[in-house]
Amino acid sequence: TIIKVSMSTCAITAGADTIFEYFKEEIEREGNDSIKLISTGCMGLCHSEPTIEVTLPGGEPNIFGNLNIAKAEKILKDIKYNKTRETDVFISKKQKKIVLKNCGFIDPENIVESIGNNGYFALNKVLTKMKPQEVIDEIKLSGLRGRGGGGYPTGLKWQFAADNKADQKYVVCNADEGDPGAFMDRSVLEGDPHTIIEAMAICGYAIGADQGIIYIRAEYPLAIKRLEKAIMDANTHGLLGEKIFGTDFNFKIRLKYGAGAFVCGEETALVHSMEGKRGEPTLKPPFPAEAGYWEKPTNVNNVETYGNIPSIIKKGALWFKNIGTEKSSGTKVFALAGKVKNVGLIEVPMGTTLEEVIFDIGGGIVGNKEFKAVQTGGPSGGCLTEKDLETPIDFDNLIAKGSMMGSGGMIVMDEDDCMVAVAKFYLGFTVEESCGKCTPCRIGTKRLYEILERITDGKGSLNDLNLLKDLSNTIKRASLCGLGKTAPNPVLSTLKNFHEEYTAHVKEKK
Ligand code: SF4
Repeated sequence: TIIKVSMSTCAITAGADTIFEYFKEEIEREGNDSIKLISTGCMGLCHSEPTIEVTLPGGEPNIFGNLNIAKAEKILKDIKYNKTRETDVFISKKQKKIVLKNCGFIDPENIVESIGNNGYFALNKVLTKMKPQEVIDEIKLSGLRGRGGGGYPTGLKWQFAADNKADQKYVVCNADEGDPGAFMDRSVLEGDPHTIIEAMAICGYAIGADQGIIYIRAEYPLAIKRLEKAIMDANTHGLLGEKIFGTDFNFKIRLKYGAGAFVCGEETALVHSMEGKRGEPTLKPPFPAEAGYWEKPTNVNNVETYGNIPSIIKKGALWFKNIGTEKSSGTKVFALAGKVKNVGLIEVPMGTTLEEVIFDIGGGIVGNKEFKAVQTGGPSGGCLTEKDLETPIDFDNLIAKGSMMGSGGMIVMDEDDCMVAVAKFYLGFTVEESCGKCTPCRIGTKRLYEILERITDGKGSLNDLNLLKDLSNTIKRASLCGLGKTAPNPVLSTLKNFHEEYTAHVKEKK
């Protein structure tokens, strides 16, 4: 019998460590060596934490949620008498797991489990059977696009870094997840750090770099702890370091801690922060692929982007390309949050509709209230409404609807939510996070926020609505980096889709 306990940050917050200790003590007390207890990363079922998965010999895995000691005690008794229980947590079949395939499945602190599940197989394949250019061609052919928000073709990015000749190059993993409500990267790093390490080494081989750096926010202590252990174990097993798999390829990885600035998710700001400078963006070009970390060619990809690489190498570019939509291959991981019943970490093929995500996987709206809107793309995205529910999710469709994919935050709102307050919330976030380098963003977002405040305080006028629109468009056009260019999106999308709520606030004044 195998008992897996989800031990991610969210599970531990809900008491998973107590449940794990209970099972451990009971198994030890009874001297029962027929039960194997495994601590895993996030199973994606945040709405039911603490969650466990039980597999009896020859049986199917059953998942149990909202564990407490009494429930754990009953489950142990049933295991003793080989009695199966019904899974009591709903799992939708609409998910497809590529990046999350090991999260909640293996012990992230045990490299043997990772290797036992084909970990480092793809690295071995590229080092022993493929030339660097062949690796890049495979990634290009797969159609993989950057999952950090930009959606830039990953293979092309690798090509630029490979083509820029230099004595030193770097592979950087952007783990500076900062969107409110987003926890995809944290969960991947907590649940499957070896896949990210393997992917970075593959990238290093492809572009000609022997050093990797993971830029991770210091507020992710569990992810940091598991990454440090994974790097140490990979070194001990000869999967990082010198002459990997007996070849001439050397690759080292180290961590750099970020202080939690949203703008440092932008790659030039991230590079500056890694160099110990202020985390401010600079105009591109030059791109990091040309002059990045210490002016050397640097490839920056986000955690989820790397999370796809080993599977693409193992199963082939065409396998990946056949998943998803024509211009957005593969899957996307979302942190589904807000007023939805099944809050959690999900992964769906690109092209899945918003309706399927919110109502099938998410189980619909809490308290069976009316769905009102969904914010995709965090503070850079926009609010989509009921009429957009049938939209197949991919990079281009969401942009066409006035929102964006972003890194994968998805926050659902119900009939009770005031959309002007929602826009004000997101704008308040960007005002706080603006690095202050350029005026349209530094000053413009503040003025925009003041207008919104005036409106929600019942002191606004109809003219303020025009002002909101004009100022938003100016900020979008004139800001230096993506943060400023996208900051007005929540305002513009709510103005467009929920105009009557704005006018109601303005009228309330009279
Ligand atoms: Fe800084 Fe905002 Fe200008 Fe970006 S747009 S450089 S975050 S002030």
